[in-house]
Amino acid sequence: MTDRTDRTITSRNGGQSMGDRAPGGLGALLRQHIGFAPSPISDRSQRLASRLQGAQVATSVCPYCAVGCSQLVYSRDGKVIDIEGNPDSPINAGHLCPKGASTYQLINNPNRPTRVLYRAPRSDHWEERPLDWAMDRIAARIKEARDQDFVMHNDDGVRVNRLESVASIGGATLDNEENYLMLKLFRNLGVVYLTNQARI
Ligand code: SF4
Repeated sequence: MTDRTDRTITSRNGGQSMGDRAPGGLGALLRQHIGFAPSPISDRSQRLASRLQGAQVATSVCPYCAVGCSQLVYSRDGKVIDIEGNPDSPINAGHLCPKGASTYQLINNPNRPTRVLYRAPRSDHWEERPLDWAMDRIAARIKEARDQDFVMHNDDGVRVNRLESVASIGGATLDNEENYLMLKLFRNLGVVYLTNQARI
């Protein structure tokens, strides 16, 4: 697979805008004509270039499902401007399904939720809370459960070091490295109910 990471796009037609083709050579001259008639391409059209011109491109993976389609992520000035299928990938050969093709909206969508909804015990309504609050809350609840339920020895006196009141369920958006870190974290806590979606 070609490594496109951090490549800069000059244009979609290999570095030439339509105007670049004009000067020099019989081929260039013929391209400006239809038969013997002068080309109808306007000056404006000849100056057109790809909207990705000057963009940086990095290889990534669609975050949605276990197919693991490869994507090209284009950015300019630190902002993602386009995401499309990677033609070098043997998995998707440049294609993305409608869901994968909308990945751009994961980043550039003002309607994307950035806060969590929390319903307190015995409450009848949801409350909005910051993501950092949720992370602290999860960490505190795991510590609480581990302090309370950690089993060092089983009934036969065998050392088991396990925690059965916490489980971890992986999702499709996790890659191998993230799954590795999650398993490492939870095994160190003694968690035995672990699963992840085998992916990429
Ligand atoms: S593009 Fe579609 S099929 Fe491919 S990984 Fe994403 S969601 Fe799955």
